[in-house]
Amino acid sequence: MDLTAYREEVERFCQSLAEEEYLTGSGRKETAQQRLIYERHGDLFTDAAHASLREALGAAQSPAERRQLGYLVAFVVDGLIEIEVRDLEDEVTDAEIQGKITVEGREIPYRQGMIRMENEPDRGRRSAIVDAMGRLRTEVLNPLRAEIFRSIERRAAQLGYASYPELCRSVRGLPLDEVDRRMQTFVAETDELYRLHLERMLRAAGIPPAEAATHDVAYLSRSRGYDKYFPSEGAVPALKHTLREMGIDLGFQKEIVLDLEPRPGKSPRAFCAPVQIPGRIYLVTAPHGGPDDYRALFHEAGHAEHFAHFDPGLAMEDRYLGTMALTETFAFLMEDFQRNPRWCKEFLGLEDPAYQRRTDFLKLYLVRRYAAKLRYELGFYTRSSVEDNERAYRDELESALGITVPGHQYLTDVDTGFYAAEYLMAWMAEAVLRDRLKSRFGHRWWASPRAVDLLREAWRQGETITVNELLDLAGAGPLGEEALIEELKQNLSVAVP
Ligand SMILES: [Zn+2]
Repeated sequence: MDLTAYREEVERFCQSLAEEEYLTGSGRKETAQQRLIYERHGDLFTDAAHASLREALGAAQSPAERRQLGYLVAFVVDGLIEIEVRDLEDEVTDAEIQGKITVEGREIPYRQGMIRMENEPDRGRRSAIVDAMGRLRTEVLNPLRAEIFRSIERRAAQLGYASYPELCRSVRGLPLDEVDRRMQTFVAETDELYRLHLERMLRAAGIPPAEAATHDVAYLSRSRGYDKYFPSEGAVPALKHTLREMGIDLGFQKEIVLDLEPRPGKSPRAFCAPVQIPGRIYLVTAPHGGPDDYRALFHEAGHAEHFAHFDPGLAMEDRYLGTMALTETFAFLMEDFQRNPRWCKEFLGLEDPAYQRRTDFLKLYLVRRYAAKLRYELGFYTRSSVEDNERAYRDELESALGITVPGHQYLTDVDTGFYAAEYLMAWMAEAVLRDRLKSRFGHRWWASPRAVDLLREAWRQGETITVNELLDLAGAGPLGEEALIEELKQNLSVAVP
């Protein structure tokens, strides 16, 4: 195979895909045409290309060559699996868009169910929404999704891997078992604290802990009482102000194109589309206010800053491919300002221990939820049938969360590619990194030019570094769960009277 030509085409493919994501997500274009892009670049995704790349990887001489060919193998495998399940995925999407659920005699679109549920103060009605969504899942979505997972397993076997988890371990180098082991420690170590705060939060809201369900936490986590601190018009200024303190002027950063205009069809959630890395990164948002909105904008800005700082001289693979855990670490670092009492006071005028306690509790909840999800997903492909997983899903999640979890989510809640593991790695890495930045540069570390120089140095290296090498660069210890446990224990223990 002509590797140079292949790599050039991969770059064009990645750019087209990101551009398509930008155009449809920003409401500039109505229908997504990912399918056409895959078809136009069909010669990238063939079993022959996969075999040649694996062979080249086996013969690679230098670490850089091994890394880049490894990224290319992962790219082609992801593409081959994507093509295999694309028709079924489209069917799921159509069924979700067209799906209607009936709640107390009124019909609402399935896709609005989640938002309605999170904003519904009445427990009975919340539960009715969840049940109605569950009926559509059981009858329509789950059979389709079960077929998707069977296809993924089949395709992984055809490609010569023992199982899909094995494929992810070998192709993407994901340390799934290590992350799982660390997260089990996290869950055990934070158990008492979690249950204490869960009970307090539920009791304060008048919800009997024994009856609590995930919809209750979803409703409470909306934190509506704090919306006034997060006005829609303040989101972008707060981001610009924070970046300015970091010595980064978003207005002068020609690599990042801010798309702020309201537009029909624009995604309500902020997103980042790296069309050319590092030259043209879109940061798209239509702020509507509220803590979640700010969190999403800062998270995506973390990705945007990361990509915009890549050394343009890096190889294509080290700019467009690579692992998710690294870029998620920077996204979480930016998102996390909202859990920082100093930042909240200075940038939002929000000084309230109850708010801080709530955001810390929600972080704890989220990490425990992902830990349970990873554990469940690790066994997912080896259970005797896809349908056998429903019981396991409830068992894992309920034991970590201590509340009722609807079993009918057992297929919609699975991410292909073990994204849960990458998130968990990023949360651990971010806690280690932030702890180190604080101890070296003080509590307002983001305003220290040396701290930001360190980040720039890491960003510049693109996907040539791993999260462990990032932590090394910061002079921090290896990746582990300890910093995350320590931080949450410290913040939440102070809060217990
Ligand atoms: Zn992200």
